[in-house]
Amino acid sequence: MYINPYENLSDAVWRKANFHTHSGTGPRSCGFRSPEVVVDLYREYNYDLLSISNHNLYRSFENYSDDQITLIDGVEYTSDIHMLTIGVQENLRPLPVQEAITRTNELGGFVILCHPNWPDKAHFSPEMMLNLTGYMGLEALNAVCFRLSGSGRATDVWDAVLSAGKLVTGFANDDFHAMADGGRFFNLIACEKNYESMKQAIIDNAICASTGLYPIYHRLEDNTLKVKAALPIKTYLDNYEYVFIGPNGQILSKQTGVEASYELQGEDYVRVEVYAEGGQILLFQPIYKEGFLVRP
Ligand SMILES: [Zn+2]
Ligand SMILES: [Zn+2]
Repeated sequence: MYINPYENLSDAVWRKANFHTHSGTGPRSCGFRSPEVVVDLYREYNYDLLSISNHNLYRSFENYSDDQITLIDGVEYTSDIHMLTIGVQENLRPLPVQEAITRTNELGGFVILCHPNWPDKAHFSPEMMLNLTGYMGLEALNAVCFRLSGSGRATDVWDAVLSAGKLVTGFANDDFHAMADGGRFFNLIACEKNYESMKQAIIDNAICASTGLYPIYHRLEDNTLKVKAALPIKTYLDNYEYVFIGPNGQILSKQTGVEASYELQGEDYVRVEVYAEGGQILLFQPIYKEGFLVRP
């Protein structure tokens, strides 16, 4: 029996969220752009949920929330590794990494491990992650790292922890520093525009990581996984590449078409990546054998 987190989401409203933004910390700092300018940019790109998460610094940005966009509390815990502590109203940097994760959970928040392949390959390694407990997920995609050293893509690290039986959610965030970083990567979450609804949807893995494509369906029919994605604007571009990936990152099937399907062969988990011709990516969370994946 497989668990499919998208099973009952055929009528879902997908909220657009970025959890990683630097803003309002003054000249020559990572967050040199003002919150007025940055929140306006995210409004323009139709984001519903935004966290301004500066390095080891908490500030409330709640007064920038309006009918369209809800600001979510957050801090980027920054030591030799980085992680987003979302939903907390304090800087937890004085604590060691594991204690900061535990404290974030006690405060009702959740943790996203940041850009594992920056500044070098597996800087935040699968081995380090497997020694930690209580985190929600990792940045499978981080936009700013693609113009820095290292890579913004960490699907290899994600597959390593999934293969070890850890139910780790894959996120996509901008890590906004400069204007060109804004509105590029996002999470699509089947939730209301408030923190509690959003957090529950993430726990349920009712979330996709995206750089432009949206989920249409991801369903199991008997033993076959059927998947379709689309660009958000109606266009004749409806042929995408679908890649089915299993444990240890093994590519199970690659198909190009308006939809795709794969008959399961008893894999412990299978996840799907979708690519459009403009380079846009969609990452679905995995389906998995009941009991194989558990939250770390
Ligand atoms: Zn960082
Ligand atoms: Zn950052």
